[in-house]
This record gives sequence, C-alpha cells and structure tokens, in this order.
Amino acid sequence: MSDWFRETLHRDYESGLRIEEVLFEAKSEHQHLLLFRNATFGRVLTLDGVVQTTEADEFIYHEMLAHLPILAHGGVERVLIIGGGDGGMLEEVLKHRCVVQAVQVEIDASVVDFAKTHLRAICGQAYEDPRTELVIADGLKYVAETERRFDLIIVDSTDPIGPGEVLFTERFYADCKRCLSDGGILVTQNGVPFLQADELSQTLRFFRRLFADTACYLATVPTYAGGPMAFGWATDDTSLRSLPLETLQARFSGAGIATRYYTPAVHLGAFALPPYIAEMVSRP
Ligand code: SAM
Repeated sequence: MSDWFRETLHRDYESGLRIEEVLFEAKSEHQHLLLFRNATFGRVLTLDGVVQTTEADEFIYHEMLAHLPILAHGGVERVLIIGGGDGGMLEEVLKHRCVVQAVQVEIDASVVDFAKTHLRAICGQAYEDPRTELVIADGLKYVAETERRFDLIIVDSTDPIGPGEVLFTERFYADCKRCLSDGGILVTQNGVPFLQADELSQTLRFFRRLFADTACYLATVPTYAGGPMAFGWATDDTSLRSLPLETLQARFSGAGIATRYYTPAVHLGAFALPPYIAEMVSRP
C-alpha cells in the first residue's frame, strides 16, 4: 500500500492523508474498513475509501449535530441516532443529563466493535452507558417499522453511496417525521455543498414537502475538504431556529458541557448562509 490515503468520493476532486501506520483493515458484510494513523489527524477511520472521522477534528462534526439541536429544543429526552457507528455522536448526546434514552441504529456491527476496540478516544464509554440502546439494523427499515417516538433524530450517515444511500430518500425522511414527537427535530449530515450541491438541494426539497421549518446550517470540518459542511435541519416547530442568544446561553450553561467548537453564538451564526449555498437550499 502507498503511504498516502487518497479519497475519491468526488469525481473531480481528490484529497489525501499521509498514512503513518495502518492499524486495522477488514472487509465487513457491508463495507471496507480501514483505520490508520496520521501525524496531524490522529487515528483516521475510513469506510469504502471515504473518511468518516478522525480523532483530531471529530469534535466539530459531533458537537454541531448533537448540541445544536438538543439546546434548540430545550427538552430532549429521547434521541434516535441513525448510523454513527464510531460512537462519537452517542458520546456527545449522552453528555446531556436531560437525555434519558439514546437509541442508535447502525447497519454494520463491525464498525461498533471496531470503535470499542480502536476508537475509545472518540466513543469513550458511550456504548456502556445504561441509557444507550444499540440496534444493529438498516435505519430505513427501523424508522419504517418502529412505533417509538423521539424528540430528536440525528442522521449520522455515510455519504449517499453504498448502504447510506437509502438515508437520503424522501421515504426515509417521511418515516423520520412520523417517529418524531411534537416539536421534535431531525438533523442530517449533508456533505460539502461546494462539491455535493445536488445532495443538499435534494434533501432540502424533500424536507420542504414534509416539515414546517427547514434549513441547513454549516461548520468547517478540516477532513471534509472543499469548503464548509452542511447539516440539514427540519422540524414542525417554527420557533426553535430563531431563539434569542440569551435563551441558548442559559441552556448551554445549565447543561454544564465543555465544548471546543459549539457555542450559542456559533449556533446562531451557523444558520447564516453565503448566497451560493442559500441558492442550493432553495432550488425547486
Ligand atoms: N461522520 C460521518 C461521515 O463522514 O460521513 C459518518 C460517520 S458514521 C461512521 C456513518 C455510519 O453510518 C457507518 O458506521 C455506517 O455503517 C452507517 N450506515 C450507513 N448506512 C446505514 C443504514 N442504511 N442504516 C444504518 N446505518 C448506516
């Protein structure tokens, strides 16, 4: 193997990370797993040749998909995470004492086993937390069949290729809506708009058909190269996106959580879109 990992997710753009040492490589029933160490990013997890998370910058992605909707909602007790096998999202969610149950539906048991063995810096003890319920299943099937209701659904999926493709369909989002309690929030990972414009436009088009309030918000995650990354936001409670800064500050300090990216000011600012992304979000 060369000493560089080349990510070929995008047709016209390639990024690379130097491999200091390959720590693990295997083919699961669903995906090809590769874990290596990079001097700047620490341990890097890739699935099917696409970077999923790294020890050095995972906090940005996980904090923005967990703390932002939890603090916007203000009363989250039950959370559903779809995907997220590395456990980083689960760990952030469980930092909130108000969360009484976190159900994680991950299609690939080997990613979870692997995280517990090799990525403790990312998942901590989240899989051992008594509030955690791990379900090994396809997220699409789970939301279609469950009768349970959640205050927050976080779609921490791979990109729309391979097993993650179904998690970008209108049918999946409609079932997520059915699984939300009143005033519940759905957030999704939607890639890098500059390179994945159609993915973002399509998700927002589907959201608009289903929810009263839809938007996208941004964060810059160094390993997802090509500009800021977009997260989808959908809820029927139209008041949650425009909360006063003071309300978020009170909730944040009440939660007593230390963060390295999320702050209430970053929260509100993340919804400000440059025109090139606002145009993608509103495409008919
Ligand atoms: N941070 C991320 C990124 O860069 O895209 C996502 C990380 S997380 C590892 C993505 C997880 O989604 C993987 O563990 C994968 O197995 C899981 N996944 C993919 N398709 C799924 C499906 N249909 N149902 C449940 N989990 C799925």
